[in-house]
Amino acid sequence: MGEHVQDDEGRRQGGGARGPAGRHGGRRRRGGRRRGEGRGQPRQGLGRGRREPARGRVPAGGLPGQARRRGGQARDGRLRRRGRRRLDRPAEGPRARAARDGRRRPPALRLRRLAEGAYRVDRHQRTSDPDVYAVGDCATIWSNALRAETYIALATSAVRSGIVEGHNVGGTPLEAIGVQGSNAISVFGLNLVSTGLSVRAAEQAGLDVAWSDFADLQRPGFMRENAEVKIRIVYEKGSRRVVGAQLASTTDVSMAIHMFSLAIEEGVSIDKLKLLDIFFLPHFNQPYNYITMCALGAE
Ligand SMILES: Cc1cc2nc3c(=O)[nH]c(=O)nc-3n(C[C@H](O)[C@H](O)[C@H](O)COP(=O)(O)OP(=O)(O)OC[C@H]3O[C@@H](n4cnc5c(N)ncnc54)[C@H](O)[C@@H]3O)c2cc1C
Repeated sequence: MGEHVQDDEGRRQGGGARGPAGRHGGRRRRGGRRRGEGRGQPRQGLGRGRREPARGRVPAGGLPGQARRRGGQARDGRLRRRGRRRLDRPAEGPRARAARDGRRRPPALRLRRLAEGAYRVDRHQRTSDPDVYAVGDCATIWSNALRAETYIALATSAVRSGIVEGHNVGGTPLEAIGVQGSNAISVFGLNLVSTGLSVRAAEQAGLDVAWSDFADLQRPGFMRENAEVKIRIVYEKGSRRVVGAQLASTTDVSMAIHMFSLAIEEGVSIDKLKLLDIFFLPHFNQPYNYITMCALGAE
């Protein structure tokens, strides 16, 4: 809201001083009054109790309210949007109200954060203040691939953290099970789906990983409708647990990623996938399924 007010104010001040009349009507001279405004009437946009500048003069540094904003006026004469409180309005909020009423200010809320700025939460979405919960993009999340707290901003994580938080605040304790950061993107018909860590992300996080790649037609060669599928499975060298998987195809193979998501969550090893029972029907896949083949290729 503050931004809109500022922007609106900026348009009125800037537009009135230099350009055509703003949407509130009436041409306005620099530092002058609108038609119909009496001398005794306070003008909008000026601070309470502040003296209006002499007609036609703008004090050094600009009008009150403009003056203290860093950046001030842009070249087109409009105030830059800064997202700050209007200086001609009293501050809101419990600390400001307490200060005005002469009461002791409540202590500022200081919650522990990750370097990225996300509020650190436990498996119940509770922050470092037990009375404050955080969910969604503003909160950290547990990564089953990293086996560590991390920051993943996704709607899928946001809605799940909301469910966990709602239960705990409502009195039915529920622990978050962590996420894999599964996600997808479709670029000009090439569908890319992923869960857990890529090789680069794993290495950046300090994991010692290996990977297996495989590419083949999705269906047997005699099927008219067909498309290539590329798959990579990333696994930890020591434990051999799967920590990531990525698939790419012009056809929709996205549902396969959910199985890898569960595999990462459950700490399944790459070797478990080698003989996993995966159905075959020519309309969907090959008897030697691309998941089977990729897992079999792991050293
Ligand atoms: C372009 C884009 C595409 C995306 N696509 C996907 C996708 O395909 N899949 C996926 O999983 N995720 C996607 N995401 C991420 C996903 O949108 C976010 O992770 C998710 O919306 C986070 O939800 P949230 O409720 O935490 O925050 P938000 O959805 O950002 O909601 C926060 C709300 O709080 C309001 N707000 C902020 N400050 C204040 C305040 N001071 N007072 C009152 N209200 C306030 C905001 O206006 C907003 O409505 C995408 C994000 C972007 C930007």
